[in-house]
Amino acid sequence: MKMGWVGMGLFLPMVAGAMSFAIPDREQSRRAIGTILYLLPLGEFRAGAAPALDLLREYAAAYFALEVRVLPTAGLSGQGIAARQNPSTRNRQLLTTDILAALKKRIPHDAFCLLGITMEDLYPKASWNFLFGQASLRERVGVYSLARYAPAFHGGPRGPDHARTLLRGSCRVLAHETGHMFGLAHCLWFHCVFNGSNHLAASDACPLHECAVDLRQLHGSIGFDVPARYARLYRFYRKVEFDDEAVWTRTRLERIVGGAEARRIIETIGEGTSS
Ligand SMILES: [Zn+2]
Ligand SMILES: [Zn+2]
Repeated sequence: MKMGWVGMGLFLPMVAGAMSFAIPDREQSRRAIGTILYLLPLGEFRAGAAPALDLLREYAAAYFALEVRVLPTAGLSGQGIAARQNPSTRNRQLLTTDILAALKKRIPHDAFCLLGITMEDLYPKASWNFLFGQASLRERVGVYSLARYAPAFHGGPRGPDHARTLLRGSCRVLAHETGHMFGLAHCLWFHCVFNGSNHLAASDACPLHECAVDLRQLHGSIGFDVPARYARLYRFYRKVEFDDEAVWTRTRLERIVGGAEARRIIETIGEGTSS
């Protein structure tokens, strides 16, 4: 089974000691190309079978400390997107390269990037079984599938935790794949949301949080307020009952600013707002 990330227009080399991850004019170029992260739902997002889009928006806004907008859902027919039936799962799959070509035509002028999200399964070429996501950093477009995070995809029953499992997997793929848009490569150092795709496939094994190395790199790329970001993430995790992540995030925040200040920031900060 092949899976992973292909088609990266820019894949920055990362080596130990190169923590500054410098692109000298990164901030300037981000302003020049827009700062808003757009999510474009592709195809159906039925309540119960798909994660809530407002929660995905809120999570991405907290995670990347940027304004995130969800565009009206786009249909999949009439866009020249090739499809096939996967020979083993019998599920429909869409060709990622066709989707990226369609996205390039509709990227908003104020976008940092336009990310298609879909409950359809994806494939990048005929010889591949499937793909979680594909992006072109140069073109600032990407598409991610959330289909394989739904137990129903694998023929499994919907357990009592179905909605939370689906949301957690969707949040993870959103953080991981969008992180690639900010130049992050796969993490080789720690148990981290930016570990490679084998980890991404293991539904509960991969954490939602990034390690210290990747936090530093993400911060270097976006320039957010680290305690404020942790506080927003903490509030989100509490709201959706991601208890382990809430504990982890609050512990990090308290280590940075102390318990009393952590409480103050958490109480005063808005949920999932942009930076
Ligand atoms: Zn990846
Ligand atoms: Zn990492």
